[in-house]
Amino acid sequence: MSSPPDRPDLHVIDIFMMSIKCGNCDTYQTIVKFQKGAEKNVYTYECDNEICDPNVTRTLVEVPKHLDNSTRRAEELPYYEKDESPEEGEPSD
Ligand SMILES: [Zn+2]
Repeated sequence: MSSPPDRPDLHVIDIFMMSIKCGNCDTYQTIVKFQKGAEKNVYTYECDNEICDPNVTRTLVEVPKHLDNSTRRAEELPYYEKDESPEEGEPSD
């Protein structure tokens, strides 16, 4: 009872709640890659059409790791390439 579940000061970012729209072709971009970084996770979005060259319009969204609420779900997606070094040692609360 010491830590209430509702903490308004604890901000998280759910990348899957956001839409990434391309300013060039005016359509929504598709998430194609997820990378875990030391301090930031990087989500890569590309236009999924013939209009844009992904190399030009590719979007990289960086989310500070401690705010990223989408890591688990992102890892389940097929585009996620797991790193060689397993990061299993998550501290249990
Ligand atoms: Zn585009």
